[in-house]
Amino acid sequence: MSPNGARPVRAHASVDNLRTYLLAAARRDPDRPAVIQAAADGGLETVTYGELERRVDRLVDALDALGLDVGDRVILESDTNADAVATLLACATLGLPFTPTSPEVPDERLLTIIDSAEPALHIQSDHGQRTGIPETVGTARFGPGGLTVERAPAPRVRRRRVVTPIDTAYITFTSGTTGRPKGVVMSHRGVIAFLRGAEAARLITAEDRVANTSPLQFDFALFDIGLALGHGATLVPVPRARLNWPRRLLSYLRDAGVTQVDGVPSVWRPVLRHESDLLAEMGQEGVLSRITFSGEDFPLDELRRLQELLPKARFTNGYGATETMAASITEVPNPLPPGTERLSIGYAVAGAEMMLLGSDGSPVDEPGTIGEIYLRSPSLFSGYWRDPEATRAVVLPDPLHPGSGQVVFKTGDLAHMGPEGELYFRGRVDSQVQIRGNRVELGEVERRIGQFAGITGAVAMVLPREDGDPLLHAFVTCAPAGPAPDTREVLAFCRAALPAYMVPHGLSVVNEFPVTVNGKVDRTALAAHVAS
Ligand code: ADP
Repeated sequence: MSPNGARPVRAHASVDNLRTYLLAAARRDPDRPAVIQAAADGGLETVTYGELERRVDRLVDALDALGLDVGDRVILESDTNADAVATLLACATLGLPFTPTSPEVPDERLLTIIDSAEPALHIQSDHGQRTGIPETVGTARFGPGGLTVERAPAPRVRRRRVVTPIDTAYITFTSGTTGRPKGVVMSHRGVIAFLRGAEAARLITAEDRVANTSPLQFDFALFDIGLALGHGATLVPVPRARLNWPRRLLSYLRDAGVTQVDGVPSVWRPVLRHESDLLAEMGQEGVLSRITFSGEDFPLDELRRLQELLPKARFTNGYGATETMAASITEVPNPLPPGTERLSIGYAVAGAEMMLLGSDGSPVDEPGTIGEIYLRSPSLFSGYWRDPEATRAVVLPDPLHPGSGQVVFKTGDLAHMGPEGELYFRGRVDSQVQIRGNRVELGEVERRIGQFAGITGAVAMVLPREDGDPLLHAFVTCAPAGPAPDTREVLAFCRAALPAYMVPHGLSVVNEFPVTVNGKVDRTALAAHVAS
């Protein structure tokens, strides 16, 4: 406080704010390209670091004038682009936690998020189509011209003006893999700790152009933004409409001079099906030097195929959960050695540590034995939004240092250790199901089915029945040109290697697996497929 008791006029960031970290390059070299994006005229436009920072500052002024307090939530609904990045950095500057969301998110889901987050403000882009935001929430639009407030947020009391590293940078609402909607609260300190740790993986240099394919509400997009801007490199958001048109996707990557593509494995599926020649051509040119994937297991057939087309590219497997942004970044050999059965998720990023614990809580040191991954990490989330009970279930006293006050994150993921201490993902704790009293790891069933010639992907699940035991059912996708596999042959193939209770009762062939808005396999939608 100043001597006369008046508070500083504007919130200001102290050390370790997302804005300071990501705009460091703007200080060093303001003329470098920060974002290359699709322009309204169909071409490409470049926004430099200097211009990005000017946009951030303009938005900071406009947001500050609304009288929001440190900690007031802002929903940021947009595709990834320079102005969305500027808006989230403006929020970070003022200590306003942003909740990123995308135009594709259904109204009902957005309303659930709004109901839970009780944001002060909903901001969408100039072109945003969203309507029906509840009256209690202010509304605004952003664009190259700055912020236009449509409905001012309710007046509030400003209690704080300093933004500390433990203040919340963002709250992401996610529900895919783990099945339960959760608001993951991440601090500035947490996200920056992860991004600093990731620097040691040397994924990129300032010369790289990183294509972002994940929607903004998926923290993979925040990772892309953090990775690119944190290295003074260039972010290239891919317009969502291009993702389903492989030729247009590849020509966009080429035109924008993209050197690295980040995305979930499903991003590559349409390209592999329809444009493998064009991708091979780009592979020969050596323009795509790195492919980083994350979010779920990459089906090995598809990965091998992608590597054949991109023999010069390096491949990276990013593993982890939103609760720590991610956990490990592991180089994948290209080509995969013959006989590879699963991908390594390696070791935790610099500064963090993954350890395996058995169900009795004791460390699993034996290579090959399955345990649950626990993570010791400076990028640990602050907790689930308004859900202390759920937080307590996964943030636990460090079992090796009880009494130290230190905590670890119980990931719910299973893994085994390889000979060098590296880890291999083995499915989720909750994908272990009981079939007639036997414990079944669905991933093992999927792996066996996936080895059947002509099957390109398999998802196993337990379908409840009104009367009688739940049944194990498998969904498969096949090579586009090949014949549909014969169910009896596939089941016999399973029977040859798996105990009877692990053999699916039925098999459904689908053209492709439905995916969630984040691009991961949508198991709930698949289950509905059989029910309907
Ligand atoms: P959601 O629960 O909405 O999917 P997350 O993105 O946090 O949210 O999901 C994290 C989970 O995704 C991890 O706990 C793990 O089960 C799975 N996962 C993430 N990356 C990988 C990977 N590279 N390989 C296998 N599984 C992964």
